[in-house]
Amino acid sequence: MSRYLGDDFLLPVIDQHNKEWFTSGEIRVQFCKTCDAAQFPPEDVCIQCLSYDQEFRTVSGEGTVESAVEVNFPVHPLLADKVPYNVAVISLDGAPGCNAIGNVVNKGPAEVEIGQRVRAIFEEATDPTTGDKLLIPNWEAI
Ligand SMILES: [Zn+2]
Repeated sequence: MSRYLGDDFLLPVIDQHNKEWFTSGEIRVQFCKTCDAAQFPPEDVCIQCLSYDQEFRTVSGEGTVESAVEVNFPVHPLLADKVPYNVAVISLDGAPGCNAIGNVVNKGPAEVEIGQRVRAIFEEATDPTTGDKLLIPNWEAI
């Protein structure tokens, strides 16, 4: 599949915190091994108990749209011919309190509704600088 916002759109810079999210091809969320709290985005320390003992766990890859907007103004020149598009906040099943932000790619910009169930799908891209294969999560209505 080509990328929702275009194959030329910016790619994430991969670091220790986001590598699981952008390369695993699964929805992997950081959990604290001390208090079992889920947190997203990942941090060095648990925001609940301040433990440094963290691990990534695979969750179902499904979620619920909590909020959505139709974007009509291109906030970056590479988006000039992509508007309108949607951006949704998605609560992740199996990771209480964790919300991801993404695009619901099989719905029109104004068709995404709060409460819509979605599942993750992954856009493939290759970082031209590092050659790393990326699997960037997006969402489709189910
Ligand atoms: Zn904790």
